[in-house]
Amino acid sequence: MKINRSQLVFKTPFWRLWFKTWVVLWLVLITEGVSADTIHKWSAVSVDKLKAVRDDPRMVLDKTINDLPQLKGTEKAIHHFFASRAYASLILHDQALEQAKLGLSLLKGTTQPWLIAYLNLAKAEALKGLGRPREAEILVDGALQWARQNNSNELLAYALSVAGYTNLVLSETDEALNRFQEGYRLAETHSLLLTPADFSGMIALVYEYRDEPELAIPYFEQAKVYYSKQNRRLELANTLFGLGRSYLKLNKQQEGLELLIESARLALEIRDIQGAAYSYQEISQVLIKRGQIEAAQTYLVDALHFFEQAKNPFQQIGVLLAQAKIMLIQQKAEAAMQYLSSAKELATGDAFLPHRIQINRLKAETYALDDRYQKAYNLLLTMMKDERRLQNEQNSQRLIKLQAAFETEQQRSQNALLQEQNLRQQAALANERKQRGYTAIVVTLLAVICLLLLLQHRISRKHQKKYETLANQDGLTNLLTRRKTLEDTNQQLNLAHRHDDFISMAILDLDYFKNINDTYGHQAGDDILRGFANLASRSFRNTDILGRIGGEEFFFVFPHTCAQSAYTLLQSFSEKVKAVPADINREEISLSVSVGLVSGRESEDVAQLMNMADEALYAAKEAGRDCIRIYGQT
Ligand code: GH3
Ligand code: MG
Ligand code: MG
Repeated sequence: MKINRSQLVFKTPFWRLWFKTWVVLWLVLITEGVSADTIHKWSAVSVDKLKAVRDDPRMVLDKTINDLPQLKGTEKAIHHFFASRAYASLILHDQALEQAKLGLSLLKGTTQPWLIAYLNLAKAEALKGLGRPREAEILVDGALQWARQNNSNELLAYALSVAGYTNLVLSETDEALNRFQEGYRLAETHSLLLTPADFSGMIALVYEYRDEPELAIPYFEQAKVYYSKQNRRLELANTLFGLGRSYLKLNKQQEGLELLIESARLALEIRDIQGAAYSYQEISQVLIKRGQIEAAQTYLVDALHFFEQAKNPFQQIGVLLAQAKIMLIQQKAEAAMQYLSSAKELATGDAFLPHRIQINRLKAETYALDDRYQKAYNLLLTMMKDERRLQNEQNSQRLIKLQAAFETEQQRSQNALLQEQNLRQQAALANERKQRGYTAIVVTLLAVICLLLLLQHRISRKHQKKYETLANQDGLTNLLTRRKTLEDTNQQLNLAHRHDDFISMAILDLDYFKNINDTYGHQAGDDILRGFANLASRSFRNTDILGRIGGEEFFFVFPHTCAQSAYTLLQSFSEKVKAVPADINREEISLSVSVGLVSGRESEDVAQLMNMADEALYAAKEAGRDCIRIYGQT
């Protein structure tokens, strides 16, 4: 016999098991397992890479950009994400935005929601940096939602940080605090890339923004300790910057200045020129206050240069305005105007409206300094118009926010109401079901009780009948008892008298019955009595009353029958009585009966009639027995 190779393989249990296990594993992998598993693995890889981005963004950037042309699909999109993050770390938002967009374009229509969420956050960060926080907000909300739904803590922490920063840019400080505090709690309970110290720094930023330096300082200090320990210079530089500003706000100039200088030094060490520029800007402000104008200017020149390199128009404008202010203090109108014109060139678009207002205010001051009051006045008018516009815009934005919050609240309360209604309905249904259950039980019980009562009624009827039979029927002969005989006789007698009808009655007494008992035994006597009764039942009409009123004494009543007719009936009956012993196979016994007959017309009283019949019977016995005597005819 030839055995097929595949048959051989699958006949071996081990191979079958191995094959099954493999198929199941493979199915698990290609179905639900794949996305979660990929996120997990990717998160593990990305944390290391994100750390690298954080620690040396430029190095990562060079390597990533270098690798990009050889990559495809998801892998390439992931690299775009890191490139975007690296650019963001270097505060190069345009490039960061471009990288995020490139990454997203590779994923269109594919199924990598986690990567889309990450890239959207990178894009949001860039948009926020570019002064387009409203666009960022939408992307952040989507990523937040996805992270929460999929319990992706790493992504959630990242999303919370971007969300908080976006809120901060939009001056929504309460929301920003909420986001960062949620991030803080998340980072405390999970080991994530973003640590509690990171979120501390963020919380401190909000307080600083709100001009609450006392509240900001402890958070900055917490972050500072952690970053120093970890030697995370970029974050340390940023934290020292914030801390320095907070001290300055508390009028602790020396501490503030030292911290800012240290921050700038660190920033330059890691080639974070913008970071250094921010510090320089602040340092120059302190120097101006101290009257060290020239030193301040040196710092400002460097800061402007750095911000230009970083293509940060917002900060460029800031530095230019600071320089213009110095010129104004020094009453150098022309130089001031030059700075302001450069600033104005940069401040185009809606996002720069607040800057334009500031520029115009300083320009007006400059014109005034130059005695060009008309121009100054016109500019002030424009500035006020712009200010109103800004106010309106902010108001309407606040209104929209309020409305959205109101709608959300309304929706929430509506949902709560619906839920409550639902619960109440469920409770009512459950109650109804319970009641229906009770009703069913009660109905069943009632039915059972009715049945039992019916049964009991039937049984008692049966018993009653039995008792009635016992009371009315003689046990030995099945003829009527004495009591029943008298009762029925009374009834019939009344009827006969009412209708003036005939009725006859007779007492029958078996002759020498004692002898029969004595000679043949009591049993034979009983048999004779039964045979006699049977014969009587067979011989007379159903309407006749046949009763046993004593041991061997019987009382027969014949309604509608005159004494003469009764006599004839009884005569023929007496003849048949003689044959009773033969019927019970006791031919040796001779049986006869004596009868005393009376007509119902003799009296209306049964007892009297009975006595009369008895009298006639006595006469029959006297006459020698085995004969019939009619009362009154003896
Ligand atoms: P007489 O011709 O005068 O009527 O004589 P008798 O022997 O029939 O009359 P007596 O009144 O002296 O006796 C009646 C007997 O009937 C007495 C008793 O033993 C018998 N007896 C009464 N009831 C029953 C009964 O239920 N079964 C049997 N076997 N005998 C009965
Ligand atoms: Mg007798
Ligand atoms: Mg007798």
